Amino acid sequence: MTKVQEKEKLTDIMSKFISLVSYKLPKDVENKLKELKEEETNPLAKIIYETMEENQKLAYELKRPSCQDTGVLQFFVKCGENFPLIGQLESVLRNSVYKSTQETPLRHNSVETFDEYNTGENIGKGTPSIFWEIEEDSDKVEIYTYMAGGGCTLPGMATVLMPGEGYEGVVKFVLDRMTSYGLNACPPLLVGVGIGTSVETAAMNSKMALMRPVGSKNPNENAAKMEQLLEDGINAIGLGPQGLKGSKSLMGVNVVNTARHPSTIGVAINTGCWSHRRGKITFDSNLNYEIDTHEGVKL
Ligand code: SF4
Repeated sequence: MTKVQEKEKLTDIMSKFISLVSYKLPKDVENKLKELKEEETNPLAKIIYETMEENQKLAYELKRPSCQDTGVLQFFVKCGENFPLIGQLESVLRNSVYKSTQETPLRHNSVETFDEYNTGENIGKGTPSIFWEIEEDSDKVEIYTYMAGGGCTLPGMATVLMPGEGYEGVVKFVLDRMTSYGLNACPPLLVGVGIGTSVETAAMNSKMALMRPVGSKNPNENAAKMEQLLEDGINAIGLGPQGLKGSKSLMGVNVVNTARHPSTIGVAINTGCWSHRRGKITFDSNLNYEIDTHEGVKL
């Protein structure tokens, strides 16, 4: 295959994968929503879970997005230094967003700032967002695809705490945000908390926390304890599915942390809504692919 043919093949697979992510939730989210529905005792909340399930079923059957807000596309790429299309990947991802927008179709969500017009293509200046990590001695590429909806993006916030505020300050920050903005994000939510030195490191950690599977635990014992305490605390607010009350409000809390400057605690929050559309696809150097996040699907 020539480079041009390889590029076309990768664009075609990626556009189909983006479409899949728009109409089928990953298996960890599907399983958690099922569990929450079965445990729910509030009759209205139970009906909401049943409606979500029906919505998902129809979206998959009809191959139509599971939510009208198909979000701004974000890609988190871990690319081997020897992956043959490393130099073409950025244009492949942009073109595949355009192709999927036309073919799925996806709602147009890319408004040029200051000029205030919608490009109508889901691509614009800096959109889709592509975040890179280069891996040594590898010829594979792992791509997380995420659809960042407006409602679930709204609670996002980052700040830097005084060191004396400690981890209690982290909990206060997260709970303040969830009590004021949690409702906007279509619960039950996956809450991503990032901890690091500064706003940008904490913000990136909080987004990466949303890529971690529902039900996974932070490998650090204290961080895992904070995940559980935050989950219990936010559930106690009683938002319930779609904010209409219910026994649980969350799919979980994932904390991702990196080392920090001794004088600062950077903290950020990002939320994923019940329609948490993320998917992970891995290509080898021959463009054979595996999808880890979804079960029993074909592109
Ligand atoms: S928060 Fe999620 S489910 Fe609600 S409208 Fe936005 S993308 Fe759709």
